[in-house]
Amino acid sequence: MTERRHGPRPRPDLDALSAHRPGKPDYAGSFVLAANENPYPPLPGVLETAVAAAGAFNRYPDMAVGELTAELARHVGVPAEHIATGPGSVGVAQSLVLALAGEGDEVLFAWRSFEAYPVITRIAGATPVSVPLTADGAHDLDAMLAAVTDRTRLIFVCNPNNPTGNALRRAELVRFLDAVPAHVLVVLDEAYREFVRDPDVPDGLALYRDRPHVCVLRTFSKAYGLAGLRVGYAIAHEPIASALRKTAVPFGVSQLAQDAAVASLRVEDALLERVETLVGERTRVTAALRAQGWTVAGSEANFVWLPLGDHSLDFAAACAEAGVVVRPFAGEGVRVTIGGQRADDVFLETAEVFRKRL
Ligand SMILES: *Cc1c(COP(=O)(O)O)cnc(C)c1O
Repeated sequence: MTERRHGPRPRPDLDALSAHRPGKPDYAGSFVLAANENPYPPLPGVLETAVAAAGAFNRYPDMAVGELTAELARHVGVPAEHIATGPGSVGVAQSLVLALAGEGDEVLFAWRSFEAYPVITRIAGATPVSVPLTADGAHDLDAMLAAVTDRTRLIFVCNPNNPTGNALRRAELVRFLDAVPAHVLVVLDEAYREFVRDPDVPDGLALYRDRPHVCVLRTFSKAYGLAGLRVGYAIAHEPIASALRKTAVPFGVSQLAQDAAVASLRVEDALLERVETLVGERTRVTAALRAQGWTVAGSEANFVWLPLGDHSLDFAAACAEAGVVVRPFAGEGVRVTIGGQRADDVFLETAEVFRKRL
């Protein structure tokens, strides 16, 4: 027998990453407000389309994702060549990093922000560079600009930011984009775009059009309720979009996901009505929390952020006890997805009791 130490050796730099834990926690009987999912079941037309597509899953999907790409191009008003799809916008983001950065290159992002950024950066062998958020949970764009070096290849800007819910306004973002060197790609991650109501928060599409170094990421996982099907997309100029099609995993978007996404775009009015209800819930939850004495920033996404610091884990435990799963970040705060009215009420009751103990 060959000795084990002579066996295959994964890249040592992967030691910085933690492996995905197998198994799924048992949330049976609880309201899950931990992953910013859409609480509604699929719309009838979307479900039927997906079921019909399932009847042919002995076949590979359309590798070029043609129908969805064409539908998206019409929908957002860009050339089809500017669209690249992938298994969730995380999948697209990973392809982006692989296409632009490697060993010795830097990928810049605010922190705390979306957890995938440092992970996909390391997978590409590049170096993550994080810039702390301001005290009120916003991107510190001046500090991010100051952190750009000759090695910076890509900057993620999460707008609105996950997990703080904060959104950048037009003037500050435009100033930033125009100050970033032309060789650096700025990725505007707009996973929560449909939940934005502040008219001063710009639509990334308007910013990308005349800026070749700007690209926009969108997903069907949040507002559109297709998180489990894994489909997201980038809108980018050439040559970024075509590089993305090179680094993507072949057949990464299943036919089920492609067809369900097309069907979702066709019933968008019904979907956006649900989003409107969730935005109403967001307003209600935010007001109730403030009335309880909490300091909560206004969120432009489908979650709220409680900056609980050292109480974060205790608060999450109290919520779990009451039957609500929330997302704590130890020592920082707790992110709570806006759910249905019942789920939100249970969360609010727990928050009220906890608040009085603080
Ligand atoms: C949820 C989320 C995504 C989307 O993930 P998918 O891979 O599309 O499910 C992307 N960016 C941010 C900031 C998110 O919160």
